Amino acid sequence: MAGAGCKETHSTCPYCGTGCGVLLRPDGMGGLTVRGDPDHPANRGRLCSKGLALGETVVPEGRLLAPRVNGQDTDWDSALDLVAAKFRQAVEKHGPDSVGFYLSGQMLTEDYYVANKLMKGFLGSANIDTNSRLCMASTVAGHKRAFGSDTVPGTYDDLEEADLIVLVGSNLAWCHPVLHQRILAAREARGTKLVVIDPRRTASCDQADMHLNLRAGSDVALFNRLLVALHEGGALDAGYLRNVNGLDEALDAAIADDASVTGLSEAEIAGFCNLWMRTEKVVTIFSQGVNQSTSGTDKVNAILNCHLAAGRIGKPGSGPFSVTGQPNAMGGREVGGLANMLACHMDLENENHRAAVQEFWGAPAMPDRAGLKAVDLFRAAGDGRLKALWIIHTNPAVTMPEADAVSAAIKACDFTVVSDITAATDTARLADVLLPAAAWAEKDGTVTNSDRTISRQRAVLPPPGQARADWDILADAGRRIGWGAAFGYQTPAEIFREHAALSGLAGSFGLDFDISGLAAISGEDYDDLLPQRWPVNRSRQGGRFFADGQFFHPDGKARMLPVRCCPPAAAQSRRYPFRLNSGRIRDQWHTMTRTALAPRLSGHLAEPFADIHPQDARALGVKPADLLRLSSPHGQAILRARITADVQPGDLFVPIHWTGETAPAARIDRLVAAAVDPVSGQPESKATVVAAERWQPAWYGFAVSRLPMTPLADYWAMARTKAGYRAELAGLASLAEPEAAARDLFALPEAEVQMMTDRCKGIARLALIQDGKVMAALFTAPEPVAVSRDYLAGLPGTGAAGVLTGRPAADQPDPGPVVCACFSVGANTILHAIEYGGLMSVADIGAALQAGTNCGSCRPDIADLLARRPIRQAAEQDGSE
Ligand code: SF4
Repeated sequence: MAGAGCKETHSTCPYCGTGCGVLLRPDGMGGLTVRGDPDHPANRGRLCSKGLALGETVVPEGRLLAPRVNGQDTDWDSALDLVAAKFRQAVEKHGPDSVGFYLSGQMLTEDYYVANKLMKGFLGSANIDTNSRLCMASTVAGHKRAFGSDTVPGTYDDLEEADLIVLVGSNLAWCHPVLHQRILAAREARGTKLVVIDPRRTASCDQADMHLNLRAGSDVALFNRLLVALHEGGALDAGYLRNVNGLDEALDAAIADDASVTGLSEAEIAGFCNLWMRTEKVVTIFSQGVNQSTSGTDKVNAILNCHLAAGRIGKPGSGPFSVTGQPNAMGGREVGGLANMLACHMDLENENHRAAVQEFWGAPAMPDRAGLKAVDLFRAAGDGRLKALWIIHTNPAVTMPEADAVSAAIKACDFTVVSDITAATDTARLADVLLPAAAWAEKDGTVTNSDRTISRQRAVLPPPGQARADWDILADAGRRIGWGAAFGYQTPAEIFREHAALSGLAGSFGLDFDISGLAAISGEDYDDLLPQRWPVNRSRQGGRFFADGQFFHPDGKARMLPVRCCPPAAAQSRRYPFRLNSGRIRDQWHTMTRTALAPRLSGHLAEPFADIHPQDARALGVKPADLLRLSSPHGQAILRARITADVQPGDLFVPIHWTGETAPAARIDRLVAAAVDPVSGQPESKATVVAAERWQPAWYGFAVSRLPMTPLADYWAMARTKAGYRAELAGLASLAEPEAAARDLFALPEAEVQMMTDRCKGIARLALIQDGKVMAALFTAPEPVAVSRDYLAGLPGTGAAGVLTGRPAADQPDPGPVVCACFSVGANTILHAIEYGGLMSVADIGAALQAGTNCGSCRPDIADLLARRPIRQAAEQDGSE
């Protein structure tokens, strides 16, 4: 295995699509040290807080160690024979479309390749989709409509060569922090202008020259206005437009559109259009705020239209740029791991492409039409059309829209297999067969990041128990179903070579994805493969696309699309007057199966929340730290209210990360309707109509514990801390016996209980002491509990006296909630340094406390503390009662 001993191994971060290189060094005790790879072109040594904490997530705790059938541990032969038999029988009895795979952008390209080959070439169905459908399917569709191929034209270098960067629906500062830092560094060096287009004020706005706070869903109208301005201002590139069809139709549609729906003033719109028009080198970065929409594909094309019309594409510092959410969303697109793709950017519906792939694979059966996309795949599982479903490295019971219905569908499906690293997910709990998969640091293969750079991910730790690589599990299943020759892979290098050779066929059809220059790579060279951007073939190596005006439609030209602004699918109503936006927070990743293992990553925002505008909070009688109940036609959720003008009146924002394992009442996709973009099939996750009200429990609680807790409350949210765990609690029935509640919560029968109660006020404070150490503490009150949470979180396992006061003694520091997760620096520490150390700038604070000197994503918060503005932190619950 590469990297054993003291040597550092080059690998890749498994979180966002930035694709940062990491250097991994096993510590000899099962753990890892992690640092940024200074030689990787994506990050040049930088890492964000999540990447930096990767070493803390490599823990044995919670790992699935053996295959499980109906809840019982078993061996691989028994489990995979059953999987093979069930899939074979389903196909024989009910036809190929009775089976399906649901995959993940977490999978490596080699894993993805084998899954796609097994489903499309051998099981004979295109029912293979991925959580990338929820992430960037609209970009894929927009690219294909405009360019004739799913091609990202530019490279990360463009971010440093641009004079204007426009972020559309992208909180880059939190979701792709390393790219954001690259932009800020370029801005420092060359004065790059930064414009943010977002209905929400995010951390990305803090250093922007302009924030266009448009109404949710109105992006098309804004870019249509820009197209008209380019036309009227003489900024169209007539020479370039000779290679582009559809200008007149796109312009007609743009002229007919109404920019007032954006809610922006004429001056704001004109300011943006003028800046864009007079800046030759402009990069428009777009992400989930564009993609996750019932008109996501049109939004993508509205952006591409402007770049095509102005000829600002494929040139240094110029072009539209989709940043992908997941580490290998691009790899999944390359292998064709979506229900409407074939392989290597070839088309399922193209007879020549299909025949070529079928011959290459020696495949017995090939579907000739698209399979079921994510939403339809789970509907088919629920209504009995799907008889066997295999879910790999993803948690659709939490992340799919109408999540409760998806859970029910998985449960209802005749046979469900889940491959994962843990059994402790909402989805894994529903599986008939659970297969233990190798985790990030145990896997060998490749990933492709947002700028088409292919990097190696390298195994540095042995998989625990019986865990195996995904490609190996899938190939074994393929052999057991009966296709030994086609799935006889022994190494990921063999799969990579086959994939690269197949891409040569794509190249021969004149398509963009061609890495056939790597088709003969030796095992050794594969091990040593350096990051490289595709294409890689005899005539091209990496670089930008489209500066030459050559596109992939049959006529070689690009297409501008006539698009009009469409409001989000569901309109607000008296019953559902709010529009719910959802997204990521800075320090967590997806459903937190890994990031929640790192205590410092939970220090920033330890509890799910709903941002609500002060005006709406007043109207609902909601005070800081109250709980909000949100309801939609599909479900309910309870979250902590954060009252902030970052959201517009009538809008709410909630994070996506919490699950049945961490905060069951806050699973937000229970509320989200499964309304999809008609072209891309991507669900709308940014504009769910909901009702909101203050949720009034009989009691609120805050607990800390050395050991995991068993909360039985109506509302709870648990997070890991360095000393153990912390939890927010609330219950509808009054808490008559706080001591009994504490005994149930902590399961510490031997512990001595210290208690302080005020029955008149309904307040109780309990500490459980064992061997002279605080093992746990519980604070309850009829109002949100006001204690020093970060101080208390550090107490379990210590002999601290006075725990029942709920706050530190005057001579003890209280760091406050974590601001800088990289160096664990709290808000109170920074405020103290500002107050008493005379620190005047973010740089001063960095020099004194290190805060903000690594990934930099907390710098906006530090600036807010300097300006005495409220920071984007947990709700205010640390005040006095
Ligand atoms: S920006 Fe952060 S999460 Fe994304 S790849 Fe880099 S280190 Fe990982």
